Amino acid sequence: MISYQSLGVKQVINASGRMTALGGTALHPDVIAAMAEAAQTNVDMEELKHRAGELAARLVGAEAAMVTTGAAAGICIMVAAVLTGGDPYRVRRLPDVDRGPSEVVLQLGHAVDFGAPVEQMIRLAGGRPVLAGTANHVTEADLEGAIGERTAAVVFVQSHHAVQKGMLGLPEVIAIARRKQVPVLVDAAAEEDLRRYLAMGADLVAYSGGKAIEGPTSGVIVGGQDRIRACRMQESGIARPMKVGKETIMGLLAALERYTGGDAEAERVRQRRLIDGLTAGLNGLPHTRLEVRQDEAGREIWRVHLALDEAALGFTAVDLLGDLRRWDPPIHLRSHWANTGVVAIDPRPIGERAMPVIVDAIRAIFDRRRKGR
Ligand SMILES: *Cc1c(COP(=O)(O)O)cnc(C)c1O
Repeated sequence: MISYQSLGVKQVINASGRMTALGGTALHPDVIAAMAEAAQTNVDMEELKHRAGELAARLVGAEAAMVTTGAAAGICIMVAAVLTGGDPYRVRRLPDVDRGPSEVVLQLGHAVDFGAPVEQMIRLAGGRPVLAGTANHVTEADLEGAIGERTAAVVFVQSHHAVQKGMLGLPEVIAIARRKQVPVLVDAAAEEDLRRYLAMGADLVAYSGGKAIEGPTSGVIVGGQDRIRACRMQESGIARPMKVGKETIMGLLAALERYTGGDAEAERVRQRRLIDGLTAGLNGLPHTRLEVRQDEAGREIWRVHLALDEAALGFTAVDLLGDLRRWDPPIHLRSHWANTGVVAIDPRPIGERAMPVIVDAIRAIFDRRRKGR
């Protein structure tokens, strides 16, 4: 049978988070079983998508839902839905918009790159991004002023990728958008709370299926009945190249059932044990401050941070990350703050067996590099 090994592709240890570049999540056997069974038979896809939407909606307490190939597709489809409404002519004309508003307003600090630019996903659907405010500061007047006759929607990016300081929060954005009578679309790709943003008053919310939900490479959009119907219509338009397979749909549902019914406390205990093991194993590294810190965007995620005194050590955080990536097996730590001398270990994707491998590798690299001086 074909395998990563027979292809000559190395397995890696992922200690960096739910990274698309490292293949997303390692799937639970129940999710794989649901996908395998679904893959072996034929079904009426319309019926499957309809029922899948109903179940996904029920699981997250939304009125309606649609399974997508990912949150990036989700942004594109949500924008397309507000540009076209339920008009089949407009659906088939996208990305050309020859009637109605097409501007999509977002705060400048939300115009980020998640692997591709958020703005590009908007443009792909025929939307014209309009940026409000400055990169580190957006006022209510900035947002209000950016919304006009031609505005079709406001996109809000709820993400650790977005600028956290100086941006308007979702409640303020929703209040302004309500006054101006434009819908608010939320990109909540990696967020853990599947209910919160709709409850706050967002019109549509897109999640990634392969991040917090721990499903296959997929996504889900949740929202009201009419808006989700307009999203579904895009499948005979611009969403056709984002076609979701039957096995993906079933895999996502299996993952959603696990996630929403799951034992969050057991997972917290597992992560806590990993963090304790990592801090014990890495304690006393020279010229290095060891800290357990909460996620910078306030999610319920704690990570082990190593702050290197690079001058005293004679090597940098970037050097350490490079050595680890060349390790056997290759190890990927969280590199977001490497330019400030900080590396982080994310416990979520780490299996029990990988923990000592990570500790030993970091210790060995410290020894080797300090001897080599
Ligand atoms: C990961 C991510 C996306 C893309 O999600 P996919 O499911 O990989 O398509 C979009 N926006 C943000 C903020 C992300 O973090």
